[in-house]
Amino acid sequence: MGKATGFIEYAREEAQERDPLARLQDWKEFSVRLSDESLKVQGARCMDCGTPFCQMGTEIRGLTSGCPVHNLIPEWNDLVYRGRWKEALDRLLKTNNFPEFTGRVCPAPCEGSCTVSIADPAVGIKNIERAIIDKGFEEGWMTPRIPKSRTGKKIAIVGSGPAGLAAADQLNQAGHSVTVFERADRIGGLLMYGIPSMKLEKEVIERRVKLLAEEGIQFVTNTEIGKDITAEQLKADFDSVILCTGAQKQRDLVMEGREFEGIHFAMDYLTLATKSLLDSNFADGQFIDAEGKDVIVIGGGDTGADCVATALRQNCRSVVQFGKHPELPEDRAYDNPWPEYPLTFTVEYAYEEAEAKFGSDPRIYCIQTKKIVGDEQGRVKELHTIQMEKTKDENGKVVFKEIPGTEKVWPAQLVFIAIGFEGTEQKVVDQFAVEKNGNKVKAAYGKYTTSVDGVFAAGDARRGQSLIVWAIHEGREAAREVDRYLMGASNLP
Ligand SMILES: Cc1cc2nc3c(=O)[nH]c(=O)nc-3n(C[C@H](O)[C@H](O)[C@H](O)COP(=O)(O)OP(=O)(O)OC[C@H]3O[C@@H](n4cnc5c(N)ncnc54)[C@H](O)[C@@H]3O)c2cc1C
Ligand code: SF4
Repeated sequence: MGKATGFIEYAREEAQERDPLARLQDWKEFSVRLSDESLKVQGARCMDCGTPFCQMGTEIRGLTSGCPVHNLIPEWNDLVYRGRWKEALDRLLKTNNFPEFTGRVCPAPCEGSCTVSIADPAVGIKNIERAIIDKGFEEGWMTPRIPKSRTGKKIAIVGSGPAGLAAADQLNQAGHSVTVFERADRIGGLLMYGIPSMKLEKEVIERRVKLLAEEGIQFVTNTEIGKDITAEQLKADFDSVILCTGAQKQRDLVMEGREFEGIHFAMDYLTLATKSLLDSNFADGQFIDAEGKDVIVIGGGDTGADCVATALRQNCRSVVQFGKHPELPEDRAYDNPWPEYPLTFTVEYAYEEAEAKFGSDPRIYCIQTKKIVGDEQGRVKELHTIQMEKTKDENGKVVFKEIPGTEKVWPAQLVFIAIGFEGTEQKVVDQFAVEKNGNKVKAAYGKYTTSVDGVFAAGDARRGQSLIVWAIHEGREAAREVDRYLMGASNLP
């Protein structure tokens, strides 16, 4: 343990962020790393409590508590406090294949279960994680680890999101020959096309993919399994297959007026924006442009927030985000105790930016869209809404009731639907003829075997839309099971 009294002596310091109005002028990352000196102090705040809830990684009442990859958090907090960065990196890489992703965009369920957070703000774990790996790259410590021998076994991974990449990394290090197939033109799944550049710059992904390729992993882009290569062909060519196809089947809005022009899925908006930025710095015009428009995002989650931030950078005239639920409380509610994930009010980067530009938080709570109205050209013109009250019926079931007299008409020339995802896309799953669990691939947690021999599934395709850190965890575990399947035993963690 670094400093026994650190948690008493030092306050939490947040990662620095670029000025909201300044960062709206570009697509660069908004958060800035703390100095080594500040990070040392933050590391000293870890009380090494003995039972590190921060690294337990489980679900309590459907919410993640602790770190799903079981990062050895108190150990590297201590090493950072002592300035032993290289050893901190070694410890971090034992559990997390890609800390440069999680250290930037993980919602940090570790911090919600940090013991210090019972009485004080949590240790800034995520910032420390990011700093360790960024330093690792800067110092030249991240060099290719080329396996000394090969087993001769061939594995195909379908999908190059964090689950597929983590599985590929583990299996390659175990000496297998791994090929990752991706239907998009770039590797990374939602890391690349989904999460916007201002949260996660794409050079960070490309740097990692380059390293993985140098280590021997084959990447095949622009190739859809189930269309360009059949499931049968893939099974014939490889000893094992892992389906890491994500859960990008989008939930649609069923409503009068849904067909008007100008209404898009959030993912189409975000994907096209990133692709056009990377391909041509927007010169190709191949994106949905919010410039000068009134934008409404339907859906109160993080995907919606990313749409808000993107629309702001495109100079929209106004932007609001509709959410179904009420505003969260400042402090934990009595039924949301530590070490559960804290359901408390936070101001994400997108809301800070909207506030800076338009003077108000864009979130509208407890609101329901009743109908969408278009103009004579068939373009969306306005949304008609009503406020709702979240209450309980006589059986204690949560219900939403309309509040009479709260009807409102909102002008809108662009509407983004961000109301969630329904599971993985069915075409490829059907071709592999694996059993399904709703729209997800059926494979038991911890085993990852599907109903088809030699075919495994991991990440969002198996568990539904989740978090990067869970995808990495599942990719790692599925790799261990594939290794066991092929070799009879496995040394993979
Ligand atoms: C807009 C948005 C923002 C998010 N922000 C965060 C965040 O800040 N923090 C966080 O922790 N989580 C975030 N998430 C969730 C997180 O991105 C996912 O949980 C995670 O990426 C899932 O990883 P995965 O590897 O299972 O699947 P994905 O990342 O979805 O990757 C699946 C890949 O499979 C490919 N594929 C599918 N079918 C085929 C096929 N037939 N052939 C070839 N390739 C195929 C797809 O093209 C895709 O590239 C966000 C999600 C969205 C939508
Ligand atoms: S991966 Fe996420 S949960 Fe785990 S230590 Fe990093 S920020 Fe915390």
